[in-house]
Amino acid sequence: MEFEVVIGLEVHVQLNTKTKMFCSCPTSFAEMQNKNTCPVCLALPGALPVINEEAVKKAMMFGYAINATINKKSIFNRKNYFYPDLPKGYQISQFEIPIVENGYLFIEKEDGTKRKIGITRAHLEEDAGKNIHSIDVSKVDLNRAGTPLLEIVSEPDLRSSDEAVDYLKKLHSIVRYLNISDANMQEGSFRCDANVSIRPKGDSKLYTRVEIKNLNSFRFIKRAIDYEVERHIEAWEDGVYEKEVVQETRLFDSQKGVTKSMRGKEESADYRYFPDPDLLPLVIPDSFFEETKNIPELPDEKEERFIKEYGIRAYDAALIASSIEMADYFENMLKEKIDPKNAVTWLTVELAARLNKENLDITKSPIDAKKLSKLIKRIEDKTISNKAAKDVLDYLMQNSIDVDEAIEKLGLKQISDESQILSMIDDILSKNQDKVNEYKNGKEKLFGFFVGQVMKASKGKADPKLVNRLLKERLSS
Ligand code: ADP
Ligand code: MG
Ligand code: ZN
Repeated sequence: MEFEVVIGLEVHVQLNTKTKMFCSCPTSFAEMQNKNTCPVCLALPGALPVINEEAVKKAMMFGYAINATINKKSIFNRKNYFYPDLPKGYQISQFEIPIVENGYLFIEKEDGTKRKIGITRAHLEEDAGKNIHSIDVSKVDLNRAGTPLLEIVSEPDLRSSDEAVDYLKKLHSIVRYLNISDANMQEGSFRCDANVSIRPKGDSKLYTRVEIKNLNSFRFIKRAIDYEVERHIEAWEDGVYEKEVVQETRLFDSQKGVTKSMRGKEESADYRYFPDPDLLPLVIPDSFFEETKNIPELPDEKEERFIKEYGIRAYDAALIASSIEMADYFENMLKEKIDPKNAVTWLTVELAARLNKENLDITKSPIDAKKLSKLIKRIEDKTISNKAAKDVLDYLMQNSIDVDEAIEKLGLKQISDESQILSMIDDILSKNQDKVNEYKNGKEKLFGFFVGQVMKASKGKADPKLVNRLLKERLSS
C-alpha cells in the first residue's frame, strides 16, 4: 500500500520587544537569575497584566506578511496547567479568537513550482520561566517568564519532512525580514513542534497524529519526522497501527535518532481555557492598522525583483533572498557597479565556501560587501586573473588590508601591457625558430606550447586572452 504523509507545524517565535508581554520588565539577557522580574511576572497576588503594544504591532505585521485576517477584536485566555516554572498556575494565551487567522505562505518545489501552505492562526501568548536542575538542588528562574511569543499554527498541508523544513525556513526568513524576532534556533527564540500522521494515498480523512515537541534545528526536525513516519508505516504494515500509534506527545532523542513517548496528548478541554478576567478584550485601534500595514519587502518579492532587475538565475535569487543579511550584502555589492553574475558567484560560491570553512555566517564575514566588490572590479578591469583573485580572497580572509595592497603584496598583478607581452613573445619565438617553422608548416597544435612558454616566462601573470591574440598575430605574419 502507498501512504501519504500529513504534517502540521506549531512554531513558537519569541518576539523581540523591549519589554515583556504583560509587564514592563526588560526581555534582555540577565546574568543574575530572577533579575528581570516584577510582581506581574512573579505571579504575586493582585498584580495586574497590561498588554504590550509593541507585541501587538509585531503580530499584526506578521498577519500582513502572510495575507491573513487580523482580528480587530481578540481575546486573551487563561490556559491552566501546573508546572514549577509557571507560578500563576496558568499561561495567558489566546484561544477561540486569536489576533491573526487564515493566512498562507508559499514554498518552492524542486521543479520551481510553488505550493501554498495554509496558516490556521497566529496568536500572542507569554513564555514560561526555566527550571534549572543541578545535583542536589533545583531552582526556578523567572527571567524568561512573560516574554512575548507568537505561536504560528499551520494547516496539515505539508506532505514530507522536506516540505516541513522548507516551510520552516520560509517562516524563519519572513520573521527575520520583518525584524519581529531574532529567530535564533539554538537560543530557543524559534522553536517548533511537529504533528505527524500518515494515511493511505487517496484518503482525505485525518488519521491519528503524534506531536513531537521542541525541535531546535532544521536537521533534527527532518530526522524526527522521518523516524516517526517510518514508525507509523511499519506499525500499519505489521497490523499493529491502532495499538502502536496513539495520540500523544513524543520527544526526539537526537543522540539515538529516535522519538520516545513523553506523555499522553492532552485535549484542549484539559486546560479549562477561559477569558482572563484581568484583561479586557484586545480591540486594536485603527491607527495601529495604519502604522503596521506597510511591511518591508518579503523574501518572495525580493527574489522576483532580483531576477527581473539583475537578470540572475531563479535558483541564485532564491538562495540569496532566503536570508535578509545575504540579500543586503548582495545589494551592497551591486552599488559598486559590478556585473551581477560575478557578484552571485563570488558571494554564493567563493565567499560562502570560505565562511563555511571558518564556521562564520555572513554577518561575521571579515570581508565586507564593498571589499568583495573591489576584488571583482580588479578581475573585471583585468588587473588580476580569476584564479589569482581566489588567492587574494584567501589572503583577505586572514588579513584585514585593502584589496590593491593585497594584490601588490602577493605579486599577483596581471600583465596586460601589450608591448610587455609582445617582447616576451618575440623572445620565446626567436629561441624556438625550429618550432615556429613546424607550426607554419601545419603543426598547429604547437600553438599551446607557445602559450605555455609565454605564461611561464611571465610567471603566470600575463593576461591569457591577450597572449593568445598577440601570439596568433605574430605567428600569422
Ligand atoms: P493542539 O493545539 O492540541 O496541538 P491543533 O488542532 O491546534 O491541536 O493542531 C495542532 C497542529 O496539528 C496543527 O498544525 C494541525 O495542522 C496539525 N494536525 C491536526 N491534525 C493532524 C493530523 N491528523 N496529522 C498531522 N497534523 C495534524
Ligand atoms: Mg499543540
Ligand atoms: Zn515583570
